[in-house]
Amino acid sequence: MIRIGPMAVAGKIELSTPVESLKGVGPARALHLGRLGIRTAGDLLEYFPRNWEFVAPRTDIMRLEAGRDATVVGIIESTAVEGHPRHRRFEAVVVDDTASLTMVWFGQAFLAGRLKVGQVIKASGKVTRYKKRLQMANPKFEVVAEGRDEPGGLSPGGPVYPATVELTSGCIKGIIGQSLEKLLEQVEEFYDDGFRERAGVIRRRDAFRLIHRPRNAADVEAARRRLKYDELFLMQLALAIRRRWILDSAAAPPAVPTAEIDRRIRRRFPFLLTEDQNAVIGEITSDMSRNRPMNRLLQGDVGSGKTVVALYAALLAVARRLQVVMMAPTEILAWQHFRSCERYLKKSRVNRLLVTGGLTGAERRQALAAIAAGRVDIVVGTVALLHRDVRFRRLGLAVIDEQHKFGVHQRAGLRRDDGCHCLVMTATPIPRTLAMTVFGDLDVSTIRSRPPGGCSVVTRVVGPEMRHRAYDFIRQRLSAGGQAYFVYPWIAGTDEAGALKAAADQYRRLSADTFAGFRVGLLHGRMPSRQKERVMADFCRRRIDVLVSTVVIEVGLDVPNATIMVIESAERFGLAQLHQLRGRIGRAGTSGEPKRAYCLLFTEGGGEAAEKRLRIMTRTNDGFAIAEEDLRLRGPGELFSTRQHGLPDLKIADIIADGDLLRMTRRHAFELVEQDPALADPAHAALRKALFERFGDSFELSRVA
Ligand code: ADP
Ligand code: MG
Repeated sequence: MIRIGPMAVAGKIELSTPVESLKGVGPARALHLGRLGIRTAGDLLEYFPRNWEFVAPRTDIMRLEAGRDATVVGIIESTAVEGHPRHRRFEAVVVDDTASLTMVWFGQAFLAGRLKVGQVIKASGKVTRYKKRLQMANPKFEVVAEGRDEPGGLSPGGPVYPATVELTSGCIKGIIGQSLEKLLEQVEEFYDDGFRERAGVIRRRDAFRLIHRPRNAADVEAARRRLKYDELFLMQLALAIRRRWILDSAAAPPAVPTAEIDRRIRRRFPFLLTEDQNAVIGEITSDMSRNRPMNRLLQGDVGSGKTVVALYAALLAVARRLQVVMMAPTEILAWQHFRSCERYLKKSRVNRLLVTGGLTGAERRQALAAIAAGRVDIVVGTVALLHRDVRFRRLGLAVIDEQHKFGVHQRAGLRRDDGCHCLVMTATPIPRTLAMTVFGDLDVSTIRSRPPGGCSVVTRVVGPEMRHRAYDFIRQRLSAGGQAYFVYPWIAGTDEAGALKAAADQYRRLSADTFAGFRVGLLHGRMPSRQKERVMADFCRRRIDVLVSTVVIEVGLDVPNATIMVIESAERFGLAQLHQLRGRIGRAGTSGEPKRAYCLLFTEGGGEAAEKRLRIMTRTNDGFAIAEEDLRLRGPGELFSTRQHGLPDLKIADIIADGDLLRMTRRHAFELVEQDPALADPAHAALRKALFERFGDSFELSRVA
């Protein structure tokens, strides 16, 4: 009987073929490959070298120049072991048809057993001058069998793969080499020649060939460029399709501004809006005037005036008889938003409602009924407002603050109320390139300048030995009527309990001892809502001098009189987060007179690197510069887990180093989706397939295509 199975179609390899079926891979190797994440032939093809070593061009000895890399082929004429017994070196004099050259290997006397007079050797290394004569120190070499020398051969160099003890780079190179040609046959091209030339990339199949078998550095460059291009292009394509789908799938009620509405809204603010605020409002109103949902990210430093812009958008919606929901990640922030609204909406007929967890059952039912009946214009609360039991009569606009904590998936959840405009706000300035990936399906508006009247923040790093002087200083300011925050880290990923305990311990110590005689309050995320609100209200009304808290005050809290912030264990925070915290005390004062605020970064001596990182905070107050620096120092994984946002990790591209390429792929991907929104054109079939393989359904692609 003939069995038809994988074995029967010997020789045929597909990208999904398990590695065991490849030549040279037995069960043991398959296991080791598995540990490197390589399970299929396709994984193997995409297992890229981490480095490439090339051998310099072969040169006649007579033509060698000091300072250059070169490869020399010649006969060993003499050898010697020289030097002090503890620092012995092996020397060989090599001659070719033109001259002779001394090669020296320091500390490798054992080579005397391998290199013998009369052998032909091929050696590569840097040519140096020693006592007026040229030599090669520690060259890489191989012994060449007589007559089999191929000039420019690559044998000592080539790709270097990330390896393990069981599976060396050479071993991986061998495994890939045995199947490479067959694997390459399976590689499908994504683009037609015209597109490929415009993008300036080589063929996909060639790219895979050259990444594993380059002839020179230029090959590697061309291969890497194509593979990076594809990786970034697919990601941007997914985002472009998702964005397109949002635009096409739902209608939103247009909220068209008029000169009269604009005038009425602006009258609410006791100041003129800044140029940046006006520009962003222009973008937002133009979005909201359409009957397609706005899907926009508004980013700007703390205190740059985002809340005011969001309120403008909200009042525009309300003027058009639409409801607005404003959501924050925590109750405290929701409360703060509500207070901002209240401040600007005094004596207005706009109905506002704060929905918190502190409402009783009856209160909540009443609130929901009012919202459903359309009696409430602006609802403020936490993301709990996304819950199903909250129904709006005519929701026009959702404002989400600090969206980066939620991610792409949650954003999708919002659109169950089909067709409302959506404005996402973040006070974490996001480096451009990161915004293009994590928030790549949103339009981005940025406020860069701060409104006038903000006070300057002086930032200092305070080591353990300086603490007492810092306490003296703070007591002085408190006596003069100032207020201070003490913030304790709550490290992302862990729960709040640790920070809570630290904050509670410190609260006892500070109130009983360091700040005896002042009023010290404690605020943390686990307190019942009503109690939180009371503590915050007390701090706002200056009934509390020192507020000890976990980082729940990270965003939002707006107390102009609080001009001191101490951040404990500052080295445990990200720079962007520190900057955001510090923004709490850099707010525009109501008094109008310029003042100074102090941000003291307490450290427990986290070492030099930590110090250096913190010093960046003392040098600049530009949130974008800090975010870029943070991204550079800690990498995107630390700032945002891309997986958490539904994006796969990148294998070869780097969103920082390859920022230009990222921008280019984004443009190309969005253009392509403009022409062929569902990638229905048969010419795009390979691209479509690759997109599904890579992203599965995390981008709702199936709904599109
Ligand atoms: P963000 O939400 O970006 O942190 P806010 O909108 O809360 O910033 O504004 C910060 C502070 O600056 C608030 O006290 C606000 O009243 C004030 N402010 C906002 N815009 C202006 C402006 N154009 N001129 C003067 N002050 C402003
Ligand atoms: Mg704000």
